[in-house]
Amino acid sequence: MEKLTIIVPAYNEMAVLETSIPRLWTIEQQVVHTNHLDEQSDILIVDDGSTDTTWAIIQQLHQQNPLVRGLRFSRNFGHQAALIAGMTAAIQTADLMVTIDADLQDDPEKIADMVILAQRGADIVYGVRNNRDSDSWFKRTTAQTFYGLLKKLGVDLVPNHADFRLLSKRAGQAFLTYSERNVFIRGLIPRLGFPTAKVYYKRTPRMAGKSKYPLPKMLAFAWDGITSLTIAPVRLILILGTLACLLSAGMLIYSVAVHLLGLTVHGWSSLMVSLWFMGGLQMISLGVIGEYIGKLTTEVKHRPRYTIRSRLD
Ligand code: UDP
Ligand code: MG
Repeated sequence: MEKLTIIVPAYNEMAVLETSIPRLWTIEQQVVHTNHLDEQSDILIVDDGSTDTTWAIIQQLHQQNPLVRGLRFSRNFGHQAALIAGMTAAIQTADLMVTIDADLQDDPEKIADMVILAQRGADIVYGVRNNRDSDSWFKRTTAQTFYGLLKKLGVDLVPNHADFRLLSKRAGQAFLTYSERNVFIRGLIPRLGFPTAKVYYKRTPRMAGKSKYPLPKMLAFAWDGITSLTIAPVRLILILGTLACLLSAGMLIYSVAVHLLGLTVHGWSSLMVSLWFMGGLQMISLGVIGEYIGKLTTEVKHRPRYTIRSRLD
């Protein structure tokens, strides 16, 4: 019989865990019975270095139900690291792994459909939102722009899918062989291959507490996504540089012509504009290249992606 582990990353989620975990447990029990899964199917909460009472709540939930397990980071390592830690721990015993946010904005009822699709042969089942009503206009537009941009840059992403997904054992094992430090999980999973399926759901507003992804963190995450999945920005710089060179040839002809016509006193404004423009372009280019060198540096150091402080299992 297959064992299912539901992995829940949690960062300062004291406002939601006491309601969301029992709800997840009930749903999981139903799935275990209807789909004949292993009775030892469990929930693994990864406390990503919370500073509130999250860990105490996890301990309490574990005491009430030993199949609710916990993993605690030594500090905040981020959502993606928490997911990887959860998968690394779960893969030892689980045949199916589902990752879902602690606030249950992603419909947990769909786990049943995910398991059925997995039993029919899918190794990866993506949870895909069929609307973004619960998002602000701003988040909706920025998200759409981001996914559109990545697609143009040649990165294969499943639109409107975040980190609500099921992985089979072999898909999970394959994913965990990706040892890069800068991880954008949803950009790597489509590269695994394997048969995939999708379940559609409506994303609801967060049940309690605040989003742990304020704007600066969201932007950093998006930028990480781009720079860890594609080198297109550096190529773009090459193209921009080439264009600038071609343009400067035109400028050369123009200035010679102007000189010959004796109109050389003019040109202060065009000089200033091109000076600032080219200066800006160069700085941006250096910044982008620097970003990649920075990423290389962290990859080369091969530091651990997270450190575990304690575990309940
Ligand atoms: N999360 C985490 N570490 C972080 C930030 C978030 O483990 O540094 C978890 C958080 O507890 C939640 C999930 O990642 O389970 C998604 O975060 P949130 O719901 O705040 O993001 P949003 O839905 O607003 O994008
Ligand atoms: Mg959320």
